[in-house]
Amino acid sequence: MSCKSASVLTALGVVTLVSAGTLQAAERVDLIVKNAHVLTMDASRTAYEKGVVAVRGDTIVAVGGPGLLGRYQAEIVIDAGGDIAMPGMINLHNHIAMVAFRGLGEDGVENRLFEFFFPLEKEMLSRDLIRVASRQGAIEMALAGVTLVADMYYHEDEVARAVAEVGIRGVLGETVIGFPVVDAAEPWGGLAYAEEFIKEWKGHPLITPAVAPHAPYTVPPEWLLKSKALAEREGVPILFHMAEFAHEERLIREGVGAFPEEKSVVRYLEELGFLSDALLAAHVIYVDEADMAILKRHGVGVSHNPKANSRGATGMSPAWEMFGKGLDIGLGTDGPMGSNQMDIVNVLGYAASVARLRGQDGRRFTPYELVSMATMGGARALDMEDQIGSLEVGKKADIVIVDIHAANMQPIYDPYAALVFSAYPENVRTTIVNGEIVVRDRVVKTADLEVHEREWKALTKRVAEFAKTLE
Ligand SMILES: [Zn+2]
Repeated sequence: MSCKSASVLTALGVVTLVSAGTLQAAERVDLIVKNAHVLTMDASRTAYEKGVVAVRGDTIVAVGGPGLLGRYQAEIVIDAGGDIAMPGMINLHNHIAMVAFRGLGEDGVENRLFEFFFPLEKEMLSRDLIRVASRQGAIEMALAGVTLVADMYYHEDEVARAVAEVGIRGVLGETVIGFPVVDAAEPWGGLAYAEEFIKEWKGHPLITPAVAPHAPYTVPPEWLLKSKALAEREGVPILFHMAEFAHEERLIREGVGAFPEEKSVVRYLEELGFLSDALLAAHVIYVDEADMAILKRHGVGVSHNPKANSRGATGMSPAWEMFGKGLDIGLGTDGPMGSNQMDIVNVLGYAASVARLRGQDGRRFTPYELVSMATMGGARALDMEDQIGSLEVGKKADIVIVDIHAANMQPIYDPYAALVFSAYPENVRTTIVNGEIVVRDRVVKTADLEVHEREWKALTKRVAEFAKTLE
């Protein structure tokens, strides 16, 4: 085209003069983020100052420098004002609804799990509580730039409803466990519940339903394999706690009696035929070199949850070693009873500290590596790296904008170091998931916050009243 006019209308939209003598129709997209320090987290570590991300529907259609602005136009244009734009952070391990009980039993309860927490759960858990508390957790995570959470709990369909309402992604595993629980009167009833949940939610744009056999010490081989068979039949992930405790071999022997002598937990699970690339294992602390090689060979994803592991004194994971060996490892928080914060910003620097303390080596994990674990690492652990984890053309538009003008973020010489060691979750300004703005300028735009506030107040009042009876 050689027309010199800069405002010819075409079927595609307004025509813009983009360079001397050349006319191109500005392509219509739905959303543009401009003037951002874009950290793509792609394989070449590409970053753009004054960068642009163009989104059509749920998909990124262009990422690049300011030159892209002439090629795209959109109704919604977010001027990032120089702030960082990065892929959404992935929280690989949580029990979101437990936020209803956050902060209880912190003060010298001797056996917190059995004498405080189990009675609390037994008395208080309901569909209603799980839905409202999950919504609260999803709001907290959206505000902190978490665009995907992997969760294991009960009534996972209620978790799904809440997470989808807020508008972040969820990989949500219905718990399979051998005693009666809130959503299954019979032991192992979670498996049938999981099957129904999976059939109901499979194919949802934000929710990936999954099955979650609790742990090797609570679930015997038969039910581990039944859970795996369900996941294979339905093509969904398996969420699981693995090698979390130093005495897990003893726990397995006492709990399900299936543990052979002189085997590690990982080798036991491998011989059982339980390991696969559909498996996402949380914690993975008590593993040796041979175990790590086995996990890598089977493509098992790992959630590293250093805050929960150190807070509960369960141990320090060899996360740095697993990362170095090329395992699919990302970051998680664990539930809000084990790690009271659910954001990943706080985990970034913490993971560095724990790895450095463990190895007595202040060089372990570079800031880039940690940001990569929180984004691409999480995506790989979930086998979703072709869809999310980086800002690249063709991937889903899960984008987070982080305020670099906040006092704690200044100066910005190395944006990765600022994110890892200086940032607070409140520095996240805007969270976009699947092309939709979930948080804009620190305000949730999706859920009905008035209704939520009312329901959350009523719920926490009930919990507070019951908790008094446990003191
Ligand atoms: Zn957990």
